[in-house]
Amino acid sequence: MTTETAPQEFTFQAEIAQLLHLLSHSLYQNREIAIRELVSNASDALDKYRHVVLTQGASVGESELGIWIEPDEENRVLTIRDNGIGMTHDELIQNLGTIAHSGSLDYLKKLSDAQKNDVSLIGQFGVGFYSAFMLADQVEVLTRSYSEDTGWKWTSDGTGRFSIEAAEGLERGTQIKLHLKEDLDEFTRPIRLKHILTEYSTFVPYPIRCDGEHVNDQKPIWVEPKSQVTDEQYKAFYGYLSKRTHEEPLWHLHLTSDSPFQFHAILFCPPTNFELMGFGKDEHGLHLCAKRILVQNNCRELLPEYLRFIYGLVDSADLPLNVSRQALQDDTVFRKIRKVLVKRVLGHIEKFAETPEEYAKFYGQFGTTLREGVASDFEHRDAIAKLLRFRSSCGDDRAALTSLDDYVSRMPEEQTQIYFVTGSDIRTIQRTPNLEAFASRNFEVLYLIDPVDEFVLNHLGKFADKDIVSIDSAEVELPEAKADTAEGEDAESKAADETPAGLDRVIELLKEGLGEKVEDVRVSNRLTASACCLVNPEGAMSAQLQKVLSQASDEFQMAKRIFEINPKHALVQRLAALSANSQHDEFIKSCGQQLFTNALMIEGVVPDAHDATDRMMGFMEELASSRSPIAGE
Ligand code: ADP
Repeated sequence: MTTETAPQEFTFQAEIAQLLHLLSHSLYQNREIAIRELVSNASDALDKYRHVVLTQGASVGESELGIWIEPDEENRVLTIRDNGIGMTHDELIQNLGTIAHSGSLDYLKKLSDAQKNDVSLIGQFGVGFYSAFMLADQVEVLTRSYSEDTGWKWTSDGTGRFSIEAAEGLERGTQIKLHLKEDLDEFTRPIRLKHILTEYSTFVPYPIRCDGEHVNDQKPIWVEPKSQVTDEQYKAFYGYLSKRTHEEPLWHLHLTSDSPFQFHAILFCPPTNFELMGFGKDEHGLHLCAKRILVQNNCRELLPEYLRFIYGLVDSADLPLNVSRQALQDDTVFRKIRKVLVKRVLGHIEKFAETPEEYAKFYGQFGTTLREGVASDFEHRDAIAKLLRFRSSCGDDRAALTSLDDYVSRMPEEQTQIYFVTGSDIRTIQRTPNLEAFASRNFEVLYLIDPVDEFVLNHLGKFADKDIVSIDSAEVELPEAKADTAEGEDAESKAADETPAGLDRVIELLKEGLGEKVEDVRVSNRLTASACCLVNPEGAMSAQLQKVLSQASDEFQMAKRIFEINPKHALVQRLAALSANSQHDEFIKSCGQQLFTNALMIEGVVPDAHDATDRMMGFMEELASSRSPIAGE
């Protein structure tokens, strides 16, 4: 700790200077959110103090914990005061001079552009304090930490620098003094202030006093019967928990239980997932109360990771108050509450899914987070599997999503497995030659564009007792195709079905030509239109997943594939005929190389481009030279 009495001067971290610039240019009608942020910081400081008291066994002391809003109309100063934990000299520098989460500024900039300079989400990003400069051109922070006798005064005009000096005679806690900007007298008017406080801070768990009045003196809504809570109250509560006041939650879940243990909870799902916008992992957790008293305000252990997007509050009379985080997690009631919450949330999401359009919105935002649960929560794996959604070959609506349950309900009797195909986009997937065998049998195939979905399905392994397999896997069990009787088949192509003589020789030549590049070359029973395709040997990952892994690590070796050729295809049949004369061996091998290259290209793998183009040039030159320059001759 320093002992200087003269003010020390500091420069803000560069990001803060930029942030302050951004704030001073943001929309005026949202200035009141600064009050919400400062009150919320005061409330956090009170939580921290109470936590210290509880865990260190000290008593809270004579004075009641609280927050005071003190307007001074004459001097145009608004003070927000708390008797929370306070800050030491070094904490002041650390907390009010640097941005804790890197990336906050960039994100806020993006958001403020997108929302036309609306920065009301500022509290989400760990920089709420600086919103003080939306109201004030001079901010003073007077603070004394519970751990020290000396207090400190921090001062800044928000233009890049701040100073700190010792301050005598301060009570424990923090006062933020806002020297209001020119046109902002309204923020010293008690009526205006009370209005703001009722709108944004009703649920703060400490008394807030403004002009002598206790402004947040209302019964907590989570202990009220559901029927008595209005939509506005839920919305306001969501706004308080999430600091996302300008949006409606997608859904809420209000739970009450009396036995075997007593608890109340309200949980909310936000409408959008910030993680998708590239802003780190959501780590807000739930508020945990014991008999209405907040025990922890970001308890992440109450719900599993894959439900981290949920905001909410849980209150139980059966929880121990004065225990450490670890001891709390080991508490039987705590563990049981967690269990009930997970079950109820998953049940609620399943019910929510009964309205497909709404669910598609939810899944688009949180599907990626939710599906993590398939790998991490064995106990609820089946329940989570029911919530997964995929695009599929069923139906023309390319955006439509299907559940595994629906997929299974559509399976024809002779289909024994659940199939998926992976690819970089729907168009590419739809043209995968491997799909032909499934289409001709009327077997639906799930289309996976995100490689993570394949991890998820591999993890799941089975659904409704049916194996989930990739269509290019050797484990695919296809019954005999009914293609012979399918429409459009005529006698000519039936005759062509018979395995052409010379096919064995073609296979031999292709094996010779492709050598180490393939695991095997064989005749396909899955193709109808295409000349060839690539299949994975048993147990191998799908090609798409291998591609992703090989991009991620140089050491990853793509597994060798099985190259299958279609005996019904005209080109293959022609090659079989040509194979009778050994003069054509080299040509057949060349064709094999090119067919293999084509198959890889269809999957989006670009094989050795020079070889491929040289070969194509060769074919074209040969074709061109065999033609006469005069048409029809
Ligand atoms: P956040 O609260 O999200 O961390 P802020 O910019 O609002 O971000 O505040 C930065 C830090 O300053 C807080 O984390 C806290 O440590 C400290 N702080 C702010 N206000 C108070 C206060 N009233 N009492 C004690 N500490 C405070």
